[in-house]
Amino acid sequence: MDDKTETRAYCEPPSERPGPVTAGEGPFAECVLCREPTEYPESTKGITLCPVCEWREAERTACSG
Ligand SMILES: [Zn+2]
Repeated sequence: MDDKTETRAYCEPPSERPGPVTAGEGPFAECVLCREPTEYPESTKGITLCPVCEWREAERTACSG
């Protein structure tokens, strides 16, 4: 058992990590509140919110009433 004899090319730069899988590639609809791109395709009808605003809206609606 001698690990030192193992000569592997290990100096490659770290490859790009595969990002989270999305439904597809853009164009994405803009968030109606902050105009950030959302996770929804541009063809989505109605109000589109980015994850952040979606979360805030959920909080707001949860607290109101
Ligand atoms: Zn937003």
